[in-house]
Amino acid sequence: MKLFGSSGARGVVGDGLTPEFVLRIAKAAGTVWETDRAVVARDTRTTGEMLTNAATSGLESVGTDVDRLGPTPTPSAVRYAGENERPAIVITASHNPPEYNGVKLVGADGIELSVADLEVIESHVLDERFGTAAWDEVGESRRVDAANREYVSDLLAAVDREAIDAADLTVALDPGHGAGTLTSPEFFRRLGCDVVTVNANADGHFPGRDSEPVEENLRDLTSLVRAADADVGIAHDGDADRAVFVDERGEFVAGEASLAALAAAALEPGDTTVAAVNVSQRLVDVCEDVGADLELTPIGATNLITRIRELTADGERVPIAGEGNGGIFFPEYRLVRDGAYVGAKFLELVAERPVSELIEPYTDYENVRVNLSYDEERELDAMLDAAAGFAESADAELNTIDGYRLDYGDAWVLVRPSGTEPKVRVYAEARDEDRAAELAERAASALRNALADLD
Ligand code: MG
Repeated sequence: MKLFGSSGARGVVGDGLTPEFVLRIAKAAGTVWETDRAVVARDTRTTGEMLTNAATSGLESVGTDVDRLGPTPTPSAVRYAGENERPAIVITASHNPPEYNGVKLVGADGIELSVADLEVIESHVLDERFGTAAWDEVGESRRVDAANREYVSDLLAAVDREAIDAADLTVALDPGHGAGTLTSPEFFRRLGCDVVTVNANADGHFPGRDSEPVEENLRDLTSLVRAADADVGIAHDGDADRAVFVDERGEFVAGEASLAALAAAALEPGDTTVAAVNVSQRLVDVCEDVGADLELTPIGATNLITRIRELTADGERVPIAGEGNGGIFFPEYRLVRDGAYVGAKFLELVAERPVSELIEPYTDYENVRVNLSYDEERELDAMLDAAAGFAESADAELNTIDGYRLDYGDAWVLVRPSGTEPKVRVYAEARDEDRAAELAERAASALRNALADLD
């Protein structure tokens, strides 16, 4: 795919991502969908209104009526699309910096479009094959205010409200000025929690912190947890489809650890879970302990969704799936990453025991990463040939779905070219740092030798 990556089309607004581009995508989508009404929604970015106007105009021009939801979390827009059986265009750049925006497309079944469906729309954009409605058949738009309210009601009905309420939890919440500001404070309050917030006003400049909920961006939240003596901290990204956590001592919780804790609670013997090829050993160990299968996909949420759909169509139970960045699916609830829902599922566990205890089994893992730069394509080819040779001769289970992943039982190594930089990355993870470093170095030296042989 040229226009759509594994999480939609993204770019800096005015430089790559323009209203004209969004207009063309909307015209193509409206042409392919052949629906009488579609949905347009956005996060809180400053360029969101401009780009939703372009999307609305494009849909109307091919004769499609539009429900304009305004700012709302991506999972809320997806819910609205599914419940009303309308496809949707969501204008969001998720966790990217404020100058970015993007386009995500959702089907009338309330599921992000598959790669195959995106390719059809992409071909219409590239060939400029658009429908045109006559002057008296263009679409009309209407504003819909109910989406955020209905989203919160749905969430409240879907989680164990009584158990969370009874635990009298104090929640420190950092929605990062994104779309979660509009729904998560109310949601966690209505779950019976005392909620204290930071960065909780909708503001597309993201003045308080960068949008990505990683440790270095969450210092205000960790301070707030300590100051308010909270039981847990919860942070979202800009479109609130991710949730990451801080423990009751104010320590950041690695996303791999919270995913492992949630998976240990959700999985039963015989279940299957789906994760990307850079999945942590923590989830591998949980699956081994439970007796569940682990299916790996290429990196990117679209790939996970495609695989989850295939597995459930085959009758497999997939109660949880996701990545270590806080983007987690509970497919039996909805096939979307939902930061508020993930937050509440975590609170169900926190109602039983403190966060630090909950994640304790998953804290003792070490990650090592080695980057190997290259200047010319032949150097990349040589390194990938070497990676293939190394992988085939290694005493480990090999997965080549996205790079070379070697599972050693107690540890793993992944060799994968970066998607954005001229580098090949070698990742390793084990319970022991020496073990992780040794495995990473073994793979990296095979690649370095191949480079040396070129000269
Ligand atoms: Mg996101």
